[in-house]
Order: sequence, then structure tokens, then C-alpha cells
Amino acid sequence: MTQSSHARVTLLSDGHCLSDGGGQYGLVPRPRWMRLQAPDEHNRIPQDLRSLLIRLPGRVIVVDAGCGDKPGLDSYYTVVRPRGSLLDDLARHGIAAEQVTDVILTHLHGDHCGWLTRPTGQGGYRGINTPFTSGDLAPVFPNARHYVQRREVEAALSPNERTRNTYFAENIQPIAAAGALTLLDGPAEIAPGVRTVFTPGHSEGHQSVIIEDATLDAPSARGTLFYLGELATVMIQFVRLPWVTAYDVLPMTTIDSKRTWQAWAIETGAIVITGHDPDVLAARIVRDKAGFASAVEVR
Ligand SMILES: [Zn+2]
Repeated sequence: MTQSSHARVTLLSDGHCLSDGGGQYGLVPRPRWMRLQAPDEHNRIPQDLRSLLIRLPGRVIVVDAGCGDKPGLDSYYTVVRPRGSLLDDLARHGIAAEQVTDVILTHLHGDHCGWLTRPTGQGGYRGINTPFTSGDLAPVFPNARHYVQRREVEAALSPNERTRNTYFAENIQPIAAAGALTLLDGPAEIAPGVRTVFTPGHSEGHQSVIIEDATLDAPSARGTLFYLGELATVMIQFVRLPWVTAYDVLPMTTIDSKRTWQAWAIETGAIVITGHDPDVLAARIVRDKAGFASAVEVR
């Protein structure tokens, strides 16, 4: 493996969405999950729309890209942005979209890749899940190479009854058309010390990201970072293997992926970050003498 160089990592946000609590917690009975995340009067819970900014010498890497701002988005996600969008958050950290060299996507659900493309205003594109032609949408990160698992792209471009309300071709096809998409077949090294690992279950081609020798700025921590994406949506779902969302297309595969990577996280002491937890930003996973895993929050 290539020698890692020191990475500076910042948690970014595209705001949060309000999701159905039952959808997020799947088979877990409401009285159990509502003690951890109190739902509103519509049974909704906030889910942070998290991205990572990874700065390495000569590289600016973004991991996951929120919901975007395409017309009609609000019929699919209730997005709330009190501090602005992902692009605003990048700007707050001194990064313009043109400076981003690499974009890693954990998967292609609409709340993880919405900011890959934007309407050009030239064509007839009317919004999410409506027909579009080349020229209607352009890449948001024009100088970036985008990395996603081949299997995920295949699933996204031929959605079924269960997935067609979350896989939107307009988020990814213009990137492929621009020649800016790299399809991965399993684990891959993206930059020195930055690699993806294959963690299927939530979606068919889901991947997670490991960053070695990293400094996380807030909460402040140093070590190996493990960005789960939606291997677990919130931290408690990484600790409790059977806690899987109702949206996972292969729930038993999710549980197997979590079993493998939870053991790895305990063994290595890696700092774990989820894609959506609004409360626990980062944690180390430990196992007690009785064998039960728990998350020790990094503050
Ligand atoms: Zn997802």
C-alpha cells in the first residue's frame, strides 16, 4: 500500500432531512427507538445530510454530496437548511466547487449524490424524475473525478419498484457523459491513505471510506477514520447488528457487512462516522467483558 500522507478531515452538512422514524428503524419497535430519537407529531426524525471534506497535499476530496437543489426535490425529501447547503459549507471552509479534485460516493441514493449535477437552465429539464437530455444538466464539481462502485451504478440506472423513488439518473448520467466517472469493482485506493471498502446491504453496491493518519477537526481527534455512509445510518445501528433501516435492500447482507466491519473497528480503534446521525458525530466502538458492543462518543 502507498505510504499515507497526513489528511485533514472536516465534517460537512447539506442540512438535514426529516425522515419517517419507522422507515429509519425498520423492525425495531417504536417504543425502543423513540427513546433515542424523539419523533415529531408526524413521526419524523431529523437525519443529518453529512459529507466529508478530506484535504491532502494536492488533493481536495469530497465524500457524498447531499440532496442538491433540483426542482421537485421536496416531493421526495423534506430538506431543512438553517446553515445553507453543502456548497455553502464548502465555501465556509474556503473551498470552491472548481477546487474539488475527487468525489467519492458511498452509494447513489438521492440524498448522497444530489450535488453532483445542476440544471444548466438551457434545456427543458423540469425537475427530479422528469425526462432530461444531454445539455440539461452539468457537473457541479467540473474538475473532479467521481468514484462509485460499478454495481451501484448498474442498480441506480435500472431501478425497480422499491428503489425508483431514490435513484435519479440525472444525478449520475451527466457525470458519466462528461467522462468523469470511475467505476470501482470492490475495494480501491483513491489517494494516499484514502481507500474505499465494499460494504453492501443498504444498497447493492454500497461502499465505505477509510482514511488513515487523519486529523478530524470537529470533534477534534487523530487516527484512522472510518466513514460508514449508510453501512449504518446512525451510530446505534452500527452497534446493534440487527438494527437495520426499512430501506436496506439486502438486510441480511447489511448485518453481515456490519459484523465484519464492527469487529474491525473494535480491533483497530478507528474513529467511526455515520452518514446521518444528528447527535453522535464520531465514536470509537468498544466491547465489554460480556461481549456487548457500545459506542464511546468522541467529543
Ligand atoms: Zn441511502
